[in-house]
Amino acid sequence: MSETESFATASPGDDFVYSEREELRERVAEVNAMYRVADAIARATGLVDLLDEAIDTLLEATGADRAAILLCDDTDVMRFHAWRGLSDEYRAQTEGHSPWASDEADPQPVLVADVADAGFEPDLERAVRAEGIAALAFVPLVHGDRLLGRFMLYRDEPSAWGDREVRLCRTFASHIASATVRTRARTALRESREQLETIMETVDEGIIVQSPDGRLIYANDAAARTIGFESTAELLASDRAATLARFDMLDSRGNAIEPDDLPGRRALRGESSERLVRYRIRSTGEERWSVVRANPVRDAEGNVSLAVSVIHDVTETKLAEERLRFLGQGSEMLNEALVVERTLGALADLAVPSFAGHVTVDLYEDGVLRCVGARHVDPTKTEMMLQLREQYPPTVEAHPVQRAIRTGEPQFVPDVQAEAETMAHDAAHTRAIHELGNESGIVVPLTARGRTFGAITFGTVPPQPAFGQPDFELAIELGRRASVALDNALLHREVEARAHAAEALEFVDDGVFLVDGDGIIRLWNSAAAKTFRVKAAKAIGRRADELIAGWDGVRTRITAAAEPTAGASRGETMPIDIQGGERWLSLSAVRFPGGTVYAFRDLTEERAVEQLKSDFVSTISHELRTPLAAIYGAALTLQRDDVRLEESQRSGLLDVISGEADRLARIVNDILWASRLDSGQMGVAIVSCDAAELTGRVVDALLAHISTDVELVVDAAEGLPQVAADPDKLRQVLTNLLDNAVKYSPDGGTVRIALAQSGNRIRFRIEDQGLGIPPSEQARIFEKFFRLDPNLTRGVGGTGLGLYICRELVHRMHGRIWVSSDGRRGSTFTVELPTAAT
Ligand code: ADP
Repeated sequence: MSETESFATASPGDDFVYSEREELRERVAEVNAMYRVADAIARATGLVDLLDEAIDTLLEATGADRAAILLCDDTDVMRFHAWRGLSDEYRAQTEGHSPWASDEADPQPVLVADVADAGFEPDLERAVRAEGIAALAFVPLVHGDRLLGRFMLYRDEPSAWGDREVRLCRTFASHIASATVRTRARTALRESREQLETIMETVDEGIIVQSPDGRLIYANDAAARTIGFESTAELLASDRAATLARFDMLDSRGNAIEPDDLPGRRALRGESSERLVRYRIRSTGEERWSVVRANPVRDAEGNVSLAVSVIHDVTETKLAEERLRFLGQGSEMLNEALVVERTLGALADLAVPSFAGHVTVDLYEDGVLRCVGARHVDPTKTEMMLQLREQYPPTVEAHPVQRAIRTGEPQFVPDVQAEAETMAHDAAHTRAIHELGNESGIVVPLTARGRTFGAITFGTVPPQPAFGQPDFELAIELGRRASVALDNALLHREVEARAHAAEALEFVDDGVFLVDGDGIIRLWNSAAAKTFRVKAAKAIGRRADELIAGWDGVRTRITAAAEPTAGASRGETMPIDIQGGERWLSLSAVRFPGGTVYAFRDLTEERAVEQLKSDFVSTISHELRTPLAAIYGAALTLQRDDVRLEESQRSGLLDVISGEADRLARIVNDILWASRLDSGQMGVAIVSCDAAELTGRVVDALLAHISTDVELVVDAAEGLPQVAADPDKLRQVLTNLLDNAVKYSPDGGTVRIALAQSGNRIRFRIEDQGLGIPPSEQARIFEKFFRLDPNLTRGVGGTGLGLYICRELVHRMHGRIWVSSDGRRGSTFTVELPTAAT
């Protein structure tokens, strides 16, 4: 049986009769009680106070022995909130019991005059009895349509509940219900405000509320921190003007933002807006980036009553972005420069002042650490830094540069000044470090291809903020990129130096080529190209044994020196067949880890001269011996007493002596002329001469000693102009040519000498009918010592100097000489000399 049904039988009785007076007295008490409740409600600050006050008043006004107030919880179960005279057990056992369903439309009071008649469930009845309760009244607490809870009155003795008590209860109940609702609402409001407050303090966003006059009404801690305060309390306590003076507000480009353009101000003007603001704390230089969004709050009339700004700190994101941008830009700048100086410049441009107050780069050069570049935000200090590095290189073991290089690990020095003494060479150095005033420092070793080749030092200079962990990471990354760039630049420099060396090799007369360990030609200078008649482009990359005939033999004959010591590796001279011709090369070689460098000199010409010299000696000695033998023979014969000589015989022998003496004189004469020409001592004195007359004299002199088998014919054109020549030299030329014409006509014939004008030149033609000269040899006969028939098969001797002398003299007189012959019979030598100016 349900509780509700069991209570239904009990209803208030109305058979009591009060006297009027009694009635009046009770009415007054009732009204008093009402007032007291109303007063309690008015005074109550919280629900608990209110219920306590109400229950006491109720007890007093009704005369009940005990009372309780139960309120429905979230799940509509009624729970004791205030009570008098009830044990914990009782409350625990009866809590949850209710005479009404939770959604009952119009719950009515349930009055139990005697528990014995109530028909409670056994458990409930037992609990009620155990508590010593004999009568109960259940009065619902209703607000609007909702059952909020109930009032309970208890008596220890069975007793009917009067109208008055029920009425009082109901009146109380309605007061309490509305007060409960109100208090609950107020509590909920306070709680939600507290929650909001907590939320405001918990969120990362800074929140600022401003009044229309710009006053700060509210700010949370995050907002306070953004503008450099520890807490809201500190911010609110500070002077507004002083607060504003603590930081600059800048836009993304670093320009100051007009206060009117700030979202908060705009919100006060009724606009919603959002923008990026950089707060630069003036005292530290620290910058914070925020996205500030502000909205106006309007009152009932639609006027702006507040501006709410939400500040979202994006410093970390921005810094990360900045770093990425910085590194990206850095890599670009660094990668562009392949020249060490430019790389250093790019690094300095990049780092100072956006990242550091100064930057210094130390590199190993020939095993010594040298400062190769520095930059300071204060240009006057750049020079000072460089000088200081020069004077006090970072060689002290405790110096962060040394530490970085030794360990290969980046070094972070949070307070340079504190460590000044440990890294300094002496007191003066310490003072200089203090004077520079660097605050924090980071040293990153420069490492590439497994070796540390220097270090970069970054430093901060106040008011720039000291480096922190993110800066350290950035510096390491920057150092890594700089390492690569510098290593590239250094390599490039090396390569350039090598290229310069290779370029220089192009200008040396000696042939130089490099053969690597695999026998491939890697370098081939132009002298090598000239000698071997193979261009560098074709030679490089090919095998040496393909390119050079008999290379293996050549290679084994040359002992390669381990290093290029002057004079130590003497060249080996050997003939090498080059495109069918033989050339004499003196080769030497030096080994190096990547192969062998060969240097050679082409001695072919020198060898030819050597050959000439030996030819000369043999020719001359032969040429001298013949006339000497003749003279000696003739003289001996003339001296003999035992043989009587005819006069004709004597004069014949004397002729031989004078003839051969003359031949000797000519030979000596030729040698003298040739030697004077070679040594450059032969001067020419060009004058105007009569070619015909000069030729006549030469012919006359010749006729004195030539054999009669040869007929000499002179054919000079009429009215020839004067020739511009040195008469002695021209005479020598004509004598030589005529001598040859006669000499190389062993079978006799006519030698014709013709003089004619050809333009502004005089042409001398000496034509014979002798042995002739094969066309292939015609160029060579003018070379020194060249003879067509060195073995004298035709019995005609000579030094091979005559035509050489002719050519040299004719050239010196600004003329030309050439020969024409079919090689079988006869030769024609032509000499052309300028006519003399008239
Ligand atoms: P050489 O003392 O041998 O005559 P030259 O210089 O005068 O020396 O002549 C060089 C060579 O040219 C001679 O050995 C000879 O073979 C050739 N030669 C010069 N003149 C004539 C010529 N008229 N007819 C044929 N051969 C000549």
